[in-house]
Amino acid sequence: MADTGFNAFKMAQEQFDKVAEKLELDEGTKELLRSPMREYHFNIPIRMDDGRTKVFKGFRIQHNDARGPCKGGIRFHPQETADTVRALSMWMTWKCSVVDIPLGGGKGGVICDPHNLSQREQEAICRGWVRQISKNVGPVEDIPAPDVMTNSQHMLWMLDEFETINGGRYPGFITGKPVGHGGSLGRTEATGYGVVFTLREACKGAEIDISDTTASVQGFGNVSQHAIELYHKYGGTTVCVSCWDQGDKKAHSFYKQNGIDLKELRGITDRFGSINKNRAEELGYTILPGDEWLKQEVDILIPAALENAITGENVNDISKKVKMIAEGANGPTTPEADRILHERGIIVIPDFLANAGGVACSYFEQVQSNTNYYWSKDEVIGKLDTKMTDAYYAVMELSKRNSISLRDAAYMIAISRVAEACQLRGWV
Ligand code: NAD
Repeated sequence: MADTGFNAFKMAQEQFDKVAEKLELDEGTKELLRSPMREYHFNIPIRMDDGRTKVFKGFRIQHNDARGPCKGGIRFHPQETADTVRALSMWMTWKCSVVDIPLGGGKGGVICDPHNLSQREQEAICRGWVRQISKNVGPVEDIPAPDVMTNSQHMLWMLDEFETINGGRYPGFITGKPVGHGGSLGRTEATGYGVVFTLREACKGAEIDISDTTASVQGFGNVSQHAIELYHKYGGTTVCVSCWDQGDKKAHSFYKQNGIDLKELRGITDRFGSINKNRAEELGYTILPGDEWLKQEVDILIPAALENAITGENVNDISKKVKMIAEGANGPTTPEADRILHERGIIVIPDFLANAGGVACSYFEQVQSNTNYYWSKDEVIGKLDTKMTDAYYAVMELSKRNSISLRDAAYMIAISRVAEACQLRGWV
């Protein structure tokens, strides 16, 4: 989405083709799995606050539902493209499969910039999105969730519209709802915590004491903040975070040698995950260019902003000290950069494994919503830890056994499960 030459869908297909060959999938299965099964593209007309009508482009793309209903977030972003949504829907299929939950992959989006929209206009977009697609989504077809620049309020507006259209209460239609309105405790923390559950296990495997490590993180939104929270609970130190500055129209990195204070930084961060630069300076942070987060001499990097963050061009800026990269964002590392990281012996915990905590918890939310019985936060986080840890070990063991990267091992497990479901259903 960020770079003109970059195409996330081509990258997702390139990753798939490589693994499909290793798995010796037949031509029919390959053809089915390398593109989405269904795509919906639609216009959402909105009466703006100034009385004009503006038409927003919306998408829902369903990659595969052989293992269960499609599942995936909805992004509001001014540079959203159909190819980005296609790639993300495919990654959702692999993500649900690698953590072994009975769901398929989907993704949605609207080309819009919530920074320039009132609450009323955002509500109208949410309701308009559901009106266009309500026949093709639902608790047993396709279950949306929040993603970049969407939150629990957006989900509740969407649920309300869906229930109004369908005349009933269907809390299992959407996840990421507010707690007390069908949401699950622990959902807000789930993706970031999941990243750190896998990181904790990878550190154990590499005989690294996590409490002795330092990290640098791209992004300071939902995933990043909760990853940092748990990483600090385990004793780690984060020395640098970066985020987007809407005023300057560029990213900045915020550095503190002795480690950032999460509570302090959260206090000067807006709801879009942008840290107030002037207040950070007053608090003693050094403000560096946006790409400096990648160049820090730390043990661990956590890209948790957008795709295409680590590329062939900047991969060699990564310090020799870095031992591990836990991909919080979707698609942060290009295949070229990935090859170089593998050659350098840096352990990369791949996106669709590392950040699967969000969808695992969404699945828990759906189970709770469908049964109308809600669990305690400890129960949710405990189940999440078990899911993520089990998935990590399955991937790590295959990676060791076949001397392949964690990414290749995760793809092999995920794709073979989906291929098997398609074959058993008689689709291929
Ligand atoms: P968010 O909107 O809460 O936060 C995004 C953060 O990235 C913000 O701090 C923003 O300022 C920063 N950012 C944007 N552009 C940047 C740039 N060029 N350089 C540095 N920082 C930049 O989003 P989120 O929910 O935390 O999601 C982050 C990533 O994780 C996305 O790739 C998303 O698809 C993925 N993801 C999210 C979830 C989830 O549950 N929220 C689950 C799985 C994957």
